[in-house]
Amino acid sequence: MFATNLKTTQSLKNTGRYRAKAPAGPVTLEPANLNDLRRIIDPAARTALPIRPLGAGTASTDCNTSENGTTLKTTGLDQMVSVDTYNHTVTAQAGVRLEFLTRELAEHGLELVGGYDLQGRTVGGAISAPCYGPCIGSDGGYFSSHVVAMKFVRADGELLRIAPEQKNLLGVFRASFGMLGILYEATLRVRPIRTFTASHRRVSIDKFASVVDALANADVGFKFYLMPYRDRVYLDLRRYEADPSNAYKTPWKVKDWGESTVLPHVFKSLNKVVPIQSVRYKMIDSISEATQGLINSRFVRAGTNAAAQPNHHRHAGARGCFYSTWCFPAANFSMIVKAYTDFCESTYAASHYRCDMPAVGFRLCRDTSSLLSPSFDESMIAITTASTQPDGWEDFVIDLAEFAEKWGGLPLISQSRALRANHVIQSYGNRLDFFRRMRRQLDPENRFLSPFMAQFCQ
Ligand SMILES: Cc1cc2nc3c(=O)[nH]c(=O)nc-3n(C[C@H](O)[C@H](O)[C@H](O)COP(=O)(O)OP(=O)(O)OC[C@H]3O[C@@H](n4cnc5c(N)ncnc54)[C@H](O)[C@@H]3O)c2cc1C
Repeated sequence: MFATNLKTTQSLKNTGRYRAKAPAGPVTLEPANLNDLRRIIDPAARTALPIRPLGAGTASTDCNTSENGTTLKTTGLDQMVSVDTYNHTVTAQAGVRLEFLTRELAEHGLELVGGYDLQGRTVGGAISAPCYGPCIGSDGGYFSSHVVAMKFVRADGELLRIAPEQKNLLGVFRASFGMLGILYEATLRVRPIRTFTASHRRVSIDKFASVVDALANADVGFKFYLMPYRDRVYLDLRRYEADPSNAYKTPWKVKDWGESTVLPHVFKSLNKVVPIQSVRYKMIDSISEATQGLINSRFVRAGTNAAAQPNHHRHAGARGCFYSTWCFPAANFSMIVKAYTDFCESTYAASHYRCDMPAVGFRLCRDTSSLLSPSFDESMIAITTASTQPDGWEDFVIDLAEFAEKWGGLPLISQSRALRANHVIQSYGNRLDFFRRMRRQLDPENRFLSPFMAQFCQ
C-alpha cells in the first residue's frame, strides 16, 4: 500500500495477502516523494480522513492538523528542482524550507523578492497560508504573490498543474490552506541579490501613531516592535538606495539569535525565578529595550533578502513562545495602536496577565494576487502578540480577539487565535463564498475538510 520510505507514526501491517486496515487515526504520514503522496491521497488507499497537510507547523491555529484523520507532513518533499538563472525563477518541492531555498539561491547570486522572517517554514506552508515580512513596498505583499506555477495532487488523487498564464486559477490556489489540493511543487519568480539600507528608530507610541500613516504609504520595508508597557516602538525601516553600504550577514545572525533564542529563554527563566511580577516585568522590558537598542540600532545597517532572514527552524511550541496575529486597516492604525496599548494595560490590570515579548508588526501592502489575501481591499498592518507565558494565555487571546473584532481587525485563518467563524465569513465575504464553491467542486467528498476548516470553508 505505501512505499518503504514513507514514514508513519502508526505501524501499518501490510504484507503478503493481508491488506492493511484503515487506521483509526489520528495518524501522521510523511511521504518522501510524489508517488508516496499520490498513494496516500488515492481514494482507494482508505487513508483516514480528513487529510490535512502540515508544513513546518508554525501556524498557530488547527489549520494544519487533523485530530481524527491524517496529518500529512510535507517536509519529506524537500528537493530543489531547478534554478533558472536566465529567466530568474526557482522550482522547488513543497517541503523545502525557506532557509534552504534562500541559501541555494544565494549560491547563484539570486534572492527571493521580499523579506520573509521565520526561515524554518516550508515553501508549501508559505504559499498556502499568508506569508509576509518586512517587504519594501515595490517588492509586493506575500510570498505567494511571486509564485508563477504550481503542481497539486487533488482530492481524487489526480494531478493538477497550474501554468503561468492561468492567472485566475493561480489566484484561487495561492493561500488556499490545503483545501483545494496538496501542493507538491512550485515555481517562484526570484531576482539578482539587491542591497537595502536598514535604519532603526526608537519612538513613543504617540509619535509612532503620528507617522504610521505616512510610513504605510511609503516605499519602505517596515517592521516594528511595540512595547505597550514602556510606551516604546522600535522601528526597522528598509529602503533601496543608490549607494547602500556593504551588507554583512553576521549582524543579522546576531540580531536573529538575540530576538529568537536569547530573549524567549531569558524571559522563561525570569518567569520561574523572579516571583514578584512588577520586578520581573521591569527586568524583562529593560532586556527587550537593551536588545533592540544595542543589536538592531548599532549593528544592523544594510542587508539583502539573502542575508537578512532569520534562520530558525523551530516553531512556536519548540521555543516556548505563543503567538496570535491580527490584521488592521493601515488607514486607521494610528488610532488602533493607542487602543491596543490601552487594551494591554487594562487587561493586565484586570487579569494580571501580560505578554512578555514585544508585539511585532508588519505593513501588508495591498495585494490582490490571491483570492483570500488579507490585504485584498486595502493596505493592512499585521500585529503579532507573543508571549512565553502559558498561564493565562488562552484567556488573553480570547480578549484579544474581542478587541480585534471591535477595531475592524481581520482574522488570519492560520494565525489568529480564538477567531470566530462568523467573523471570518463576514471579513472575507464574497471572496470566501467563491472559494467555498471551488472547494466543493474540487473536493465533493470533503476529504481535506477538517472540523476546524469546516467552520468557514464548508
Ligand atoms: C514565532 C512565529 C512568528 C511568525 N511570524 C510570522 C511572520 O512574521 N510572517 C508570517 O507571514 N508568518 C509568521 N508566522 C506564521 C507562519 O510562519 C506562517 O503561517 C507560515 O507561512 C506557515 O508555514 P509552515 O511551513 O509552518 O506551514 P504550516 O503552519 O504547517 O501550514 C500552514 C497552512 O498551509 C497548509 N499547507 C502546508 N503545506 C501545504 C502543502 N504542501 N500543500 C497544501 N497546503 C499546505 C496547511 O494545511 C496550513 O493550512 C509566524 C509563526 C511563528 C510561530
